[in-house]
Amino acid sequence: MLEAASGYKTSRLLITRRKAAALAEWAGDRGLRSLLSDFDVVESGKPENKGYWINTGRRVPAGNGLCFVYLGNRPSDVRAAYASDASGEDAGLLADLFRIPECCLRFYEANAERAREEFDNDYAVITTEATTGTGPYPWFNNYLGQYFGHSLIHHFPCRWDCKASQRRALHSLELITEVSTSWARLAEEKCRGTVWFSPREGVHMIQGRLLSRGDDYRADEVVSTVYNDMTYALKRAADRPTWESADVPPGIPEGTTRLEFD
Ligand SMILES: [Zn+2]
Repeated sequence: MLEAASGYKTSRLLITRRKAAALAEWAGDRGLRSLLSDFDVVESGKPENKGYWINTGRRVPAGNGLCFVYLGNRPSDVRAAYASDASGEDAGLLADLFRIPECCLRFYEANAERAREEFDNDYAVITTEATTGTGPYPWFNNYLGQYFGHSLIHHFPCRWDCKASQRRALHSLELITEVSTSWARLAEEKCRGTVWFSPREGVHMIQGRLLSRGDDYRADEVVSTVYNDMTYALKRAADRPTWESADVPPGIPEGTTRLEFD
């Protein structure tokens, strides 16, 4: 919303129609343009274990789910985003309006089918496969922070160290900093650390600690999108006196990706 208000990009939010109407009024009072989708979206029904976040859904008639609000300060851009969705979604056009880097758009399109079929539309595993460096990666690109309420980018980066995404994130950080330095600090705190990503058993994060440094961490630094055996394994592992970087706590399922963001 902040980026839309600043004129940097057009934004799209998925919210209830009642909230959308209130948001449209708020935006109108500030000279922003908004449009509501003429369809709704409902979640797919299968558990994704990404907290309140939903990556898969389907369109339903208006009034049966959540609607999209398109928001921006250029009327033609807001209309273009609305029209693109109305006619089936033009990923290239939306990427342009949403300021998604070209390299990440190509990556998204090339992997869309696999992401949908294997990972409920999340790209973390595919991004890891495409990344050649071992990390730690720039915390700017930790979009997985979105599952905990904070992230600077809202697209799937083509590599964890994608430079275009970092530039995009820096712009977002500058805007946030202008509004509130404590908000900017909070975003950083929430995106730095070690993430354990499991496609089906949730996203778990040890906030603020990089395990490759042998940093000890506290059980209360573990946050999870779903509280399960993985959460418990990580909280229990926090009790050990030292941490070896290669350690994988018992209870972490095979196929889990560990990522570090600094
Ligand atoms: Zn990229």
